[in-house]
Amino acid sequence: MRLNKMKSISALLNHPFDDIIKGLYLNKTLASQEISDELFRKTKILITSRSIQRRLKQMGIIRSFSQAFNLSIKKGRKSYEHLRKTVKSSSLRKGIAPKLRFQVFHRDGYRCVLCGKTAQDDLLVIDHIKPVAGGGTNDEKNLRTLCRECNSGKGKVLLEPV
Ligand SMILES: [Zn+2]
Repeated sequence: MRLNKMKSISALLNHPFDDIIKGLYLNKTLASQEISDELFRKTKILITSRSIQRRLKQMGIIRSFSQAFNLSIKKGRKSYEHLRKTVKSSSLRKGIAPKLRFQVFHRDGYRCVLCGKTAQDDLLVIDHIKPVAGGGTNDEKNLRTLCRECNSGKGKVLLEPV
């Protein structure tokens, strides 16, 4: 069935089928779906992109489907931005376990690392050095003890260690 379609395309375009898709793939750098569309436009015969991929693979032009997939991403033919899930910073913040909070407070001597206030002076909070919204994690190295005032931004600029 598929071979007959390929023969028909060869006859219509007056070239061996393999040469046609090889040329479209390598010279015109079309993706398999585009090759499928192109062939259909010219011959009205539908060869699925999967069949074209399989054929290219049989010819040793592509080693695997994933390789072709990666190549098409590299060429900017595929975008997966729409599949990217947004992570809410609040959900990550909730993820600081009590034990970790304690470790950070303990490490910092129960003092604001910027102004030195203790829990008796102000409420101490855990701050993300690199903000969660900017890709910061809940790794202990990214966490520090701040008083509520420093955390709110007041005095932070002057006292921020280099
Ligand atoms: Zn402070």
